[in-house]
Formats: sequence, C-alpha cells, structure tokens
Amino acid sequence: MKYYSTNHQAPLATLREAVERGLAPDRGLYMPEHIKALPRNFFEHIDEMTFREMSFEVAKAFFGDDVDEVSLKQIVDDTLAFETPVVNVEQNIYTLELFHGPTLAFKDVGARFMARLLQYFIRKDNRSNGRVNVLVATSGDTGSAVANGFLGVDGIHVYVLYPKGKVSKIQECQFTTLGQNITALEVDGVFDDCQALVKTAFMDSELNEHMALTSANSINVARFLPQAFYYFNAYAQLKKAGKVSWSEDGTSNLVVCVPSGNFGNITAGLFAARMGLPIKHFIASNNANDVFFNYLQTGNYQPMPSKKTLANAMDVGDPSNFARILTLYDNHWESIKADISGATYPDPRIRESMKECYASTGYVLDPHGACGYQALKEQLGRNDVGVFLETAHPAKFKEKVDDILGTDIAIPQRLQNFMKGKKQSVEMANDFESFKNFLMQE
Ligand SMILES: *Cc1c(COP(=O)(O)O)cnc(C)c1O
Repeated sequence: MKYYSTNHQAPLATLREAVERGLAPDRGLYMPEHIKALPRNFFEHIDEMTFREMSFEVAKAFFGDDVDEVSLKQIVDDTLAFETPVVNVEQNIYTLELFHGPTLAFKDVGARFMARLLQYFIRKDNRSNGRVNVLVATSGDTGSAVANGFLGVDGIHVYVLYPKGKVSKIQECQFTTLGQNITALEVDGVFDDCQALVKTAFMDSELNEHMALTSANSINVARFLPQAFYYFNAYAQLKKAGKVSWSEDGTSNLVVCVPSGNFGNITAGLFAARMGLPIKHFIASNNANDVFFNYLQTGNYQPMPSKKTLANAMDVGDPSNFARILTLYDNHWESIKADISGATYPDPRIRESMKECYASTGYVLDPHGACGYQALKEQLGRNDVGVFLETAHPAKFKEKVDDILGTDIAIPQRLQNFMKGKKQSVEMANDFESFKNFLMQE
C-alpha cells in the first residue's frame, strides 16, 4: 500500500518511507491510499476474538502488503502486552481504560508498534552503518511512551524535546531517567515550540544529510494507525456485554468520546469507523484549547498559541492531525460536523467533573478523561451507549488529582520505578540554530 501526503505535493511513499520520514517532503501528513473495509464476518465474531487477534486483522488491512504475516503478528503481539478494558462508570457511560501499558497512557500502543515496525525495516536491510534518529516533541505523555517504546532498541536513537517546566515531575522522570539510547532535551519554550523545532529539523537538508531523521509524533503513520486497534476492542467488549448491537447497515448506538489534543487518537477512531466499525457518533472533547471546537461552530480553522491547562497533554493550539481529518472528509465541513461534535472545558469545569464523578460513582478520573466523561454526560442520547477514552492513569497527575479529590491515590509500581531514577537532560534554547548545532555534533 502506498501513502500520499495531505498536501498532495509530494510523491507517493512506501510504508517504509512514510515511517522513516514521519512528515512528507511537502510538510503534509501521510495517509494510506486505501482504507479497507473489514468483512461482515469479522464484526459478527469480533466478541469471540482476543484483543491481539482482532488487532492483527486490522493491522493486516493497513500493513499486510508490506510486512510478512509472521513478522506482523509478532509486532502486534509484542505491542499489545497489556489489555484495554472497558469499565462501566455509571448507567450507559463506560470508559475504555488505555492506561495499562508501561507508561500508563494510550500512547504506549502507537509507540510500541512504531518501534517494532522501524526495527523490522532496519533489520530487513541489515543496515549496520549509521543509526536512525527519532525526534519527538512532547507535551508530556508522548515522550515517555516513545522513549520507553524504543528503549534499548538497537540502531535507533531517540531525542525527546519537551517544554521546560511544563510537564509534571512524574511525566518528566519517565523519559529523563532512562539513559541508553534516549536523550532528553529540555527546551526553553512551550510544546508548540518543541513541535516547530522538530518540524524544521526535517526540512533542513544539511541536517538530513548528516543524520537519518524520523519522527515519532502522532503524525507518524506507524504510531497513528495502530491506535485504531482499541476502538475495535471497545466495541467487542460492549457487544459481548450485550450493550451494543451490530446491524447490517453498519449502524449502532455507540457514541465514542475522545479527549483530544493533536487529534491523532480520534482520527484513528475515524479510520476504524471507515473500516466498518459501527460507531454512531464521535465527540472530540477539548480543554480550554478550543480551536477544533470553534472550527465545528464556524467552519473557520483558526490556529492559536496553546494555553496551559490542567489536562496538559491536550494543550495544543494547532492540532497536526486536523489536516488528516480534512483530507478524510474532502474538506467538507458539514460532513465533519455530522460525524463529530465538539466540547471544550476550562479548568474549573474539569475539576468539577472529577469531583462529581468521584462523589457519585467512586471512579477516579484523570483531568484528560474528565473532559471525555463530561462531554458524554452532556451530549449522550438516552438510548445511546457512550464510551470515553481514559487516556492516562490518574496517578500520572497524582498531585493535581489528590488536591482536587482529597484522595491519596496509590502509585502503580511501574510508575514508582521511574521516580527512583536520576534525571539526565540537556538544556536547549528555543531556537533552531542551537538545536541544529547540537544535533550536528551528535
Ligand atoms: C496525548 C494525550 C492526549 C491527546 O491525544 P491526541 O492524539 O494528541 O489528540 C490526551 N490525553 C493524554 C493523557 C495524552 O497523553
């Protein structure tokens, strides 16, 4: 399968080229040329399959032409070393818990898949000369997921760029304490600055001649597409529990709500729906960074500087995957609005939602998941079943969560292990020349 750029000014790429480049040469995002619908039989029996089995079918639809079945099965099985359970929160509201991976956030899925796919290509090539360098900008959770997904993978070095002082201590220690093939760069700026540095690096020909660069942000197809796996799993679990049905015309009563920042996660869900997964409607829930919400209201896309909020992994003022959504819908605002509704919540509302949910159900939300929960509370129809993606474990934001709920939530052991490590990072000015000079000396 070939991949095209959302800007339509770059030649078609192979999977391997798309994965190694991240961004297309025309600065667009790669899209698979086809989205294969899965057969009726698959949906009829999905609730009898394991998470790995159904994900393998989804993976084959995208990567089956380019990766042999044995290797692909291995990549999927290694990636999904943990479950993504659906848990009832109240009445017809469920949560899809995506925090059971090594860094307790959904990004583990995409990051682990990408690391293994890239390693597959490098090995296939026997490329012993030089290494592949992964650049990743993070507002908190991407960095830890990517760093841990790639940790110790031969032939790959990872540079994590993060905004100084703008990620939580717990997030920070998950990518600054690893050492080995992971270097953390502490940038004097905000997340959008980190993202801009990475994007500029890919366009710099001198730098690209010096070293093989690739991106592991959610723009990378190898991170982005595997996120479709767990939407199938959510549906399968709810079908098994008799909560949602499968009907031949592809409709259902399932509403999926996704706390969104760069919009990679929800876009993977839109792809799952195009593959035939019966999802009635999507809700993109935002914190105070309301660029997409405003687009839904007005049809105008107006990027803004990001605002710092409680749900900091969603502090994005110009979501990169917006280009993919536009392309998927042929720039048709009405169709986008028909499939996706928006929501936006300031910090005080996020706090209230966390408190209300905890008081009435006992379920501890993290600030990101709280945006998802709140949007379902407000928008879910009476006969619908809603599932929101719980994108991170609340312990990743322990200080905030305990402060808001008056709790003392337990820190899972794998998180405690990170906190024992020693921080190693390189301070970096928010300026491309400094960043480039640093890389040129690597
Ligand atoms: C990355 C992240 C998000 C936003 O996901 P996008 O794919 O960028 O929309 C939401 N919540 C958490 C905890 C995250 O780490």
